[in-house]
Amino acid sequence: MANETNKLYLDCIHCGLCLSSCPTYRVLGTEMDSPRGRIYLMRALDEGRAKITDSFVEHMFRCLDCRACETACPSGVHFGHMMEEMRGKIVEEKSAHWLSRVILQHVFPYPWRFQIASRLLELYHVSGIQTMVRETGLLRLLAPRMATAEALMPEIGIERGVTLDSFYRAEGRKQGTVAFFAGCVMNSMLGSINRSSIRLLNAAGYDVVVPGEQICCGALANHAGLRDTAKEMARKNIAAFPIKELDAIIINAAGCGAMLKEYPLLIDGAEQFSAEVKDIAEFLVSTRIFARLKLPLDRRVGYDDPCHLIHGQRIRDEPRTLLKAIPGIEFVEIEGADQCCGSAGIYNITQNELSMEILDRKMEKIEKAHIDILATGNPGCMFQFKYGARKFGIELEVAHPVELLARSLGEIQ
Ligand code: SF4
Ligand code: SF4
Repeated sequence: MANETNKLYLDCIHCGLCLSSCPTYRVLGTEMDSPRGRIYLMRALDEGRAKITDSFVEHMFRCLDCRACETACPSGVHFGHMMEEMRGKIVEEKSAHWLSRVILQHVFPYPWRFQIASRLLELYHVSGIQTMVRETGLLRLLAPRMATAEALMPEIGIERGVTLDSFYRAEGRKQGTVAFFAGCVMNSMLGSINRSSIRLLNAAGYDVVVPGEQICCGALANHAGLRDTAKEMARKNIAAFPIKELDAIIINAAGCGAMLKEYPLLIDGAEQFSAEVKDIAEFLVSTRIFARLKLPLDRRVGYDDPCHLIHGQRIRDEPRTLLKAIPGIEFVEIEGADQCCGSAGIYNITQNELSMEILDRKMEKIEKAHIDILATGNPGCMFQFKYGARKFGIELEVAHPVELLARSLGEIQ
């Protein structure tokens, strides 16, 4: 399956129904920045009518790989897979963006390097250097591009995630055993989300194992066209999880979940592993967790769909069902919740202007919803929204749904 070279572009019937769902088409209004236009370019290249020019590369890398076009498409075009293969071809011919190469090939695949990088970011924050850099505006004068990247940098706290190679026992009557995919960003920078996830899984009656040999899922490398790096990461993860002893492999980051479920598109022999992968909302919704939600959360809460959950995994209702089950919550549906926030991995750095235009449109809708908390299930989206709230001067807590659910857990019965 991973090595098939299907002409997937032939599935496109050029109807144009995907155009209005595409964030880059909505902003730029140009056919070659729409899904249909990009498919046309990919076909032209395959048939020898086009070459990988700078303009070709630009249209391909302006795509957020958000996959909203897949949801809109009546013809079942698997756009994400096509785009990732195309970027792989581009990177074979032309080198990947330098930032992608540094971060995705030399930091993300090595857990210890990632830990060091995130601790350096933490030091940058807690030492007050970050505040000084932002207040003086010096970086913007000396290196505007670097200042743009710095402004998007999350304000990293000191909350660590879960320990790798560890075990967490089920509360009450045991229902089964699951493995937990800790992720790199989640476990190093947004630790409370992983700890909340494990608490919820234990409260739902599951023993949780956290395999020690797991590494980053490889999604960002794959989206950037660094296919060999992503393949190597997939092989390491598959070897790390003892699937025969498990009821499921649980993941709480939408982008990583979509990647783990699509390992069979990347390498052979990944089907069994991928069949066990479940997003945490997808899994919890069919457990006894509802009976454990006791403590009220009297806040207005909105939910924004991460693209790789709603479009990549077709999971829409489960996070909403769980959030609405929290006592006291006032759930607010946000207009355009299924549209991309412009984060898309490191897109907000490599395509900053376009990303900011997409974010601004999103923040206008969030502001109109008058919510206290915005829940969303992907680290990149969370960082983007935290930045958006700062930029728009909105008082808004950005949280993962599991953090809100864990706050509501009552005592063990
Ligand atoms: S993946 Fe997203 S940005 Fe790319 S063409 Fe499809 S809708 Fe547009
Ligand atoms: S909706 Fe699907 S078939 Fe129609 S133009 Fe878009 S990709 Fe092609």
